[in-house]
Amino acid sequence: MALVYCVANQKGGVGKTTTVVNLGDYLTIRGYNVLIVDMDPQANATSSLGLRCEENKSSAHLCHTIYEVLIAERPIGKAIRTTRRPRLHVVPSASALAGAEVELVGLLGREMRLRRALASVLQYYDYVLIDTPPSLGLLTINALTASDDGVIIPVQCEYLALEGLSRLLQTINLVRQHLNPRLKVSGVVLTMYDGRTRLSQEVVQEVRKFFQSHEVFQTIVPRNVRLSEAPSFGETIFTYSPESAGAMAYAALAEEFLARGKHLVRERGTL
Ligand code: ADP
Ligand code: MG
Repeated sequence: MALVYCVANQKGGVGKTTTVVNLGDYLTIRGYNVLIVDMDPQANATSSLGLRCEENKSSAHLCHTIYEVLIAERPIGKAIRTTRRPRLHVVPSASALAGAEVELVGLLGREMRLRRALASVLQYYDYVLIDTPPSLGLLTINALTASDDGVIIPVQCEYLALEGLSRLLQTINLVRQHLNPRLKVSGVVLTMYDGRTRLSQEVVQEVRKFFQSHEVFQTIVPRNVRLSEAPSFGETIFTYSPESAGAMAYAALAEEFLARGKHLVRERGTL
């Protein structure tokens, strides 16, 4: 059965999608079967993986997205697409998903829809990674409710990095109390670190003060132009520029993620 994680932070541009796509791809390189679920109407994870699912008249009916899964309860299996990597699959998004935020409000089990949909495919994967939009609306709530193994929070090493994190943690607590008792913070990832600036160094210190030390990944992702170029070629950092500092960082982050997971499994096993 797959372990299910989401990557969330209601701030835009902090590295959520970059983390989902490159962590997911690295896990496939390590031999795991991975499903990425794109819950952002901007569909950046979808396009970063070289796919496109916009409604143009000719192909719309061929391309099921997470929108149909959430709103029309179409089986999620019908929406799963393959990528260039055999072990990496994706449930794509498209701009129509923006409407789901409102349409979900009137639907039964509105917070549980993603969780219910995923249940039928968990047996085929080792990891499910859910990318989320830059808001704390029903799409993000659905992602948190589905994530039994935790939420990964990217924090950009920039001015006002901690802004909004209290609200995110509050939302996580509410979801844990009412919808998903297993939800926990799996780790905070510091992204876009620039060692030349004092600001970046200060943010690292602040974040390590704000969270408990075991909650913050040791690996820090540097600002690296290759990471921002790869998506426009529909490639991950591991095919686009495997020797880059960005690739090294995401490989190290993924290894740390795997090591932590093993630790948790061991803990669970001895209970
Ligand atoms: P989010 O999903 O949180 O909105 P993204 O992952 O899309 O954030 O990142 C925002 C922008 O910054 C994108 O253009 C992305 O390519 C770029 N980016 C992300 N991480 C890095 C990094 N470590 N170094 C340089 N650019 C990055
Ligand atoms: Mg994104």
